[in-house]
Amino acid sequence: MEVLRPIPAGETKAILFDFDGTISLLRAGWQQIMVDFMVEVLVEVAPHEDPSKLSKSTLEFVTELTGKQTIYQMFRLCDEVRKRGGEPMDPLSYKHRYHELLMDAIRYRIEGLRSGRYQAGDWRVRGVAGFLEKLQDKGIPLYLGSGTDQEFVLEEAKLLDVDRFFPERIFGALDEYTQFSKRMLITQMFSQLELRGTEFMAFGDGYVEIRDTKRVGGVAIGVASREDGEIGWDKWKRRRLVSAGADILIPDFGDAFPLLDFLHRPEPVGLENSQS
Ligand SMILES: [Mg+2]
Repeated sequence: MEVLRPIPAGETKAILFDFDGTISLLRAGWQQIMVDFMVEVLVEVAPHEDPSKLSKSTLEFVTELTGKQTIYQMFRLCDEVRKRGGEPMDPLSYKHRYHELLMDAIRYRIEGLRSGRYQAGDWRVRGVAGFLEKLQDKGIPLYLGSGTDQEFVLEEAKLLDVDRFFPERIFGALDEYTQFSKRMLITQMFSQLELRGTEFMAFGDGYVEIRDTKRVGGVAIGVASREDGEIGWDKWKRRRLVSAGADILIPDFGDAFPLLDFLHRPEPVGLENSQS
């Protein structure tokens, strides 16, 4: 665990979790699939452009928009097509095509979980179920918010046996994309639960949820998880999370249990810039 900024102890009244990359590894590898798909679209309108450069700049904007609903990445793809003098398809069609490609790549995981070939824990971020259980025991309401479509988040949370931690509190993207965003969910939580800044905490591996959390004065825990099955930091995610403003960084939940004491410690703890 790495503490970048002191956070007040014992104030947490509600916690929001991101799903993909924070709890779930079912969609691990989605970034590459999205980038490859987009580069293919762009190369068609700009055959003279260097695909490896396109790939780099595409990864850049895909990453920056990670955490927002997927449709926003497709809006950006449309802009990039237009910038090159092309006529983009409807963003929703791009999104569906991308989703088909992603599903082709990860179907074996979902089917493997259904058939019992895999255990739920095989596709969860290390230690997350135990951590959620402890949070639930403390009586802190937990929310799940994802930029992935709601129907898939519900299904995948169930397959990973984590839906029980978020009764009636699982939120995902809607086709009517203006009807849900993480920012809207956070605003709703603040008004319904009458939260003040640091009473709100969020865990996420993406840029957007960290920024949205800091915008309302909440506590942001960046999860720099590796999605390749290895243990340790994803250094690239770590850098992005630092620049987004995360207060605390963890590589996964395996060593995050000290955080739990911290949540209910009566006196403020002036943690300094140090690693523990
Ligand atoms: Mg994520």
